[in-house]
Amino acid sequence: MSTPAAAVRKIVILGSTGSIGRQALDVVRSHRDRFQVIGLATGTDRAALAGQAAEFGVTATAVGTDGAVDLAAHPDADVVLNAIVGAAGLRASLAALRAGIDLALANKESLVAGGELCLAAARRSGARIIPVDSEHWALTQCLEGRDRSSVRRIVLTASGGPFRTQLVLDDVTPEEALAHPTWAMGPKITIDSATLMNKGLEVIEAHFLFGFDFEHIGIVVHPQSIVHGIVENADGSMLLQAAPTDMRIPIRAALAHPDHVAAPADGLDLGAVGSLTFEGVDHDRFPAVSLAYEAGRQGATYPAALNAANEEAVGAFLSGLLSFVGISHVIEATLSGHRPGDPLDLDDVLEADAAARAAVRGIIRTRNAVERSDPGVVRRANRAAFLALEPSEAVPTRRSLEREEP
Ligand code: NAD
Ligand code: MG
Repeated sequence: MSTPAAAVRKIVILGSTGSIGRQALDVVRSHRDRFQVIGLATGTDRAALAGQAAEFGVTATAVGTDGAVDLAAHPDADVVLNAIVGAAGLRASLAALRAGIDLALANKESLVAGGELCLAAARRSGARIIPVDSEHWALTQCLEGRDRSSVRRIVLTASGGPFRTQLVLDDVTPEEALAHPTWAMGPKITIDSATLMNKGLEVIEAHFLFGFDFEHIGIVVHPQSIVHGIVENADGSMLLQAAPTDMRIPIRAALAHPDHVAAPADGLDLGAVGSLTFEGVDHDRFPAVSLAYEAGRQGATYPAALNAANEEAVGAFLSGLLSFVGISHVIEATLSGHRPGDPLDLDDVLEADAAARAAVRGIIRTRNAVERSDPGVVRRANRAAFLALEPSEAVPTRRSLEREEP
């Protein structure tokens, strides 16, 4: 007996020139019978976009945020893959969901900054949000068809990043932070993986996707990145999802959902993998994780402010204006000054986002002015001194900083 051939799914890829976008096109290359690309968008890389459009025969292309938002509501799309980096992807996520188009979501920042807005748009139109993030895809698989009362908590795994075993992080350079041990990704998420903010953002993402409160979402460090998500059952057992360290697996699954498309290659050879290890998070060296939990618990516009402050701080670190440990300090200082509001519409989120970015820039300017007038003083001062820097006020004196020394 023959089964009817599955329909070809028409997909729009936003951020097609990035790491996830290019891997998504690789998935399409191996399954031309199942997927057809009908729209492609890039931030700025016109040359790469033109090459992709020619290869896949795509006429609907866009450059920049507004173009991506328009493409996200393409009337023929079955699914929109949002692989834009940062809160710049939020408007496109909302456009797809409002148009009733399923959203394959790599852009976790959409949910961190605008989780309530995305959920409300999906509820109204009936569109689904299907996670591409490997941990969330793993949890989707482990939770599928499960009664919530049978689940105690969910756990995300973290590779631990390049500094998992490095005790002192004061002199970390962008080059060192960009060398991720297990995943090859775009620069922003790679730095987030080094600070572990990526896992913090993913905890907030999981909260919105699966509806667990923050007490019931955990993190465990697993350096091999083979186990991606864990569901702890109420009966004391656990389900662990394991897969090769290959983003094309969750990308393929999200594009095909709710259908299934077989992978062209074999899965894991556990005998060759050898051992899997797990350890707890070192919150002293990686304070970004607690900052994200705290922002998530506070709710309102705190997660949007956390996300924006992080984007701005990571940018400053990559351009040499801020130290690696300074990333978390400046986010903490920004959140402690954040004036929260209810994220009722997009403007509320964008306002919190803009205020947090301005606060980060102000704090870094002040800090760097102090550092210039007395090289080493801020660096020698402890975290409390860093947090004492007021973004908009007069530059603090050397004395006010050194009072804070332990
Ligand atoms: P990347 O930097 O490699 O690519 C980003 C893409 O977004 C590029 O095509 C860029 O042109 C486009 N873009 C940037 N700003 C834009 C804007 N304002 N408007 C429209 N397009 C814009 O990043 P990436 O590693 O592919 O990550 C993309 C998203 O996927 C991020 O949210 C990241 O957290 C998430 N993610 C990535 C991975 C991974 O393995 N790379 C894994 C899980 C989740
Ligand atoms: Mg992930």
